[in-house]
Amino acid sequence: MIYMDNAATSFPKPPAVAEAMAYYLNEVGASINRGVYQSAQEAGLVTLQLRQRLCRLLGHGDPTHCILTPGDTWGLNMVLLGALGPGDHCLVSAVEHNAVMRPLHRLAAMGVTFDRIPCDETGRLRLEAADSLFPPNTRLVLIAHGSNVSGTVQDAAALGRLCRARGVPLVLDAAQTAGHIPIDFTGWGLSALAAPGHKGLLGPSGIGVLLLSPEFAKSLQPVITGGTGSASDREEQPDYMPDKFEPGTPNLPGIYGLEAALRWIEEQGVDAIHAREEEMCARFLSGLREIPQIRLAGSWESRNRAAVFSLDFLRRDNAEAAFDLEQNYGVLTRCGLHCAPAAHRALDTFPQGTVRFSPGPFTTDGELQETLAAVAAAAAG
Ligand code: PMP
Repeated sequence: MIYMDNAATSFPKPPAVAEAMAYYLNEVGASINRGVYQSAQEAGLVTLQLRQRLCRLLGHGDPTHCILTPGDTWGLNMVLLGALGPGDHCLVSAVEHNAVMRPLHRLAAMGVTFDRIPCDETGRLRLEAADSLFPPNTRLVLIAHGSNVSGTVQDAAALGRLCRARGVPLVLDAAQTAGHIPIDFTGWGLSALAAPGHKGLLGPSGIGVLLLSPEFAKSLQPVITGGTGSASDREEQPDYMPDKFEPGTPNLPGIYGLEAALRWIEEQGVDAIHAREEEMCARFLSGLREIPQIRLAGSWESRNRAAVFSLDFLRRDNAEAAFDLEQNYGVLTRCGLHCAPAAHRALDTFPQGTVRFSPGPFTTDGELQETLAAVAAAAAG
């Protein structure tokens, strides 16, 4: 089997991830912030190390503002529902995932309005058009850093400058870029960044990260409240970080697994991971150019993109092509709309969707070539 679905979830993981999770479950077993015995202290230390590693990787200076969440969707909901209320306006991109659009439609039913920053045919945002989309009640701008359909990576630094000039917080959904591409939370002037642990961060599912700037953390309301093991004499949620946003017993197997994954990423270096991915993109794109019966949704550039490629098979049904790729060539892809109907509308692949190929850091050159040969055969019918 050739796994080409890393945009859904990364596989395989560095072996240390499963080892660390098994070690926690078999030998540690304690929660954090609740007991003072040795194993609880050890678990607390690993949790702190995870926050520190996430901050180092994503360019944030303060581990207390690194919230551990159950996943990217949770982090995005925490931001949208905690920051917006009736009468507020929000700006998103035209290529958002439903992890953003569904909470936003829920909010729209309560009196929140939103606009979409348009993009060109490659999925790149037209930032010049964003200028006219900031009514005075704009409270938030939230965009996918990298599209999970076309792989297009937006210029977050430029959008950060635009938002700062208007005093509006910018939030990045880094689902397809964290762990793949160097990110500079502070330098780009971000107010929040959400990412899942199970994609480019190479950890398990069920854990994610939400980074907050100190200013944004103060104004953001917690959506879920409950026990934190701290300030237990009070029935109100603590207002200090990270407890304000971390109620309930955390996902400790996930924390151990993600901490091990981040250690692996640090050893490799995110710059090196990114450089290898860029090479892989160039090779894959140049192979695709030789195949006439397909259309690539998005950019043919190997730079400023994630290793996510969406193909429309022109001679056959996409679902049939994906089935053929699996059954006859062992290539595992994801077919359909990828929880992002807006992106497919913007890229003109709605409603038929695409077959998405997403190699990862463990994909070999041989697997890439075999995939290209399989695409050529499947495209010919
Ligand atoms: N945003 C984007 C751009 C994504 O690709 C995904 C996952 N497909 C999500 C949000 C949601 O991530 P999760 O399902 O891990 O919460």
